[in-house]
Amino acid sequence: MSIFKVLAIFPPLLACQIDIFLYLCTLIFPKTDPYSMKKILALVACLLLCSSAFSQEKSLFFKRIKEAFVVHDTIYIYVDPSATDTLQQFDHDDAVIDNEEDENENEQEFAGSIPTPFDTLDTEDKFQKVIIFDNGTWAYYNLDKPEIPDSLSTDFWDTKVIHVRGVDLNSLPDQIDIPLVDSTHGYCIPHPGPITSGFKYRRRHAHRGIDIGLNTGDAVYAAFDGVVRVNMTTRYSGGYGNVIVIRHVNGLETYYGHLSKYIVKSGDIVKAGELIGYGGSTGRSSGPHLHFETRYMGYAFDPERIFDFRSGTLRDEVFTLKKHYFNVNSHYGMSDQQSAKASKNPPKSPSGVSGAVYYKVKSGDTLSKIAKRHGTTVQKLCQLNGIKDSKALQIGMRLRVK
Ligand SMILES: [Zn+2]
Repeated sequence: MSIFKVLAIFPPLLACQIDIFLYLCTLIFPKTDPYSMKKILALVACLLLCSSAFSQEKSLFFKRIKEAFVVHDTIYIYVDPSATDTLQQFDHDDAVIDNEEDENENEQEFAGSIPTPFDTLDTEDKFQKVIIFDNGTWAYYNLDKPEIPDSLSTDFWDTKVIHVRGVDLNSLPDQIDIPLVDSTHGYCIPHPGPITSGFKYRRRHAHRGIDIGLNTGDAVYAAFDGVVRVNMTTRYSGGYGNVIVIRHVNGLETYYGHLSKYIVKSGDIVKAGELIGYGGSTGRSSGPHLHFETRYMGYAFDPERIFDFRSGTLRDEVFTLKKHYFNVNSHYGMSDQQSAKASKNPPKSPSGVSGAVYYKVKSGDTLSKIAKRHGTTVQKLCQLNGIKDSKALQIGMRLRVK
């Protein structure tokens, strides 16, 4: 920082400067009136200062004031002595590495001292952080980035469609062993909480996942390592609300529905346990919960078959997936015999699977008007929605009409 900068921005110093000048004036011209001289000088100084300051852009002026007070610290890159890289001086403010610094001098400076990390900074790569040590040094730290085979995001890869069925169900083997985790790929329960609804037929439609109770804003985590295939908002996903679909290294896909917000996007590599979004009640939902699905080749099976949500653990490291698990009548807790038998049963209400039609109540609507418009009766509407015909309708309310 130059002395002129200090004088220009620091009024007491400027006043000193004027006093010195006045003193010199009185020595040269003893008869001058110091008071009027002082006034004239102060006025001239102010005019000079203002004109020079505002002759440049205002923002530049304030930037210069700010810069004048910045203490330019020197930060050193600390590199593991066993590494081949050498120590370099790093000017933090100018972000320029100064290669001319004497390396030996720096090495001596750090010899024998073990720096303690006290903060971390994010980089553009989420699997790489910068650790700041208490002695002003820093180093890159690489987080465990999951190894993802390229084929994972190429084969049957579609980021615009929620369900991608790789193969016909009939061509799948009767059973397949899926190693869920290994020494490098872990797992995580997407959200610890009570299961409020299971994998089953529910209100005449197939519920191909489980509902986990949560509060809006609660964290939701990736179940396994993988790549985000779909991030879709309520507008496009239909009943799922804001939804994330992750394709995992172990061959499964997991769905996370009704999120209030998601923070990953298709193509992102995620690690088991990584925060991917926050729970909510978007889409076809009656209250905040996480709708969680597990699928293989696009076919859903009961997530409770792999996770024990009560203890937050994996039931087994290797999951034997049987074809009859894909039937929505087959759920965890059934014996294989029961499951195989249940899967042969026709769905309890096949018409309900895709035939459900909803209507949003508008101003002036009555139950009889809605019934007439949809070719049904008030009685049927009440039955479908579990309401009485005396129920007061509210604008925006969703009624099932078929
Ligand atoms: Zn659900």
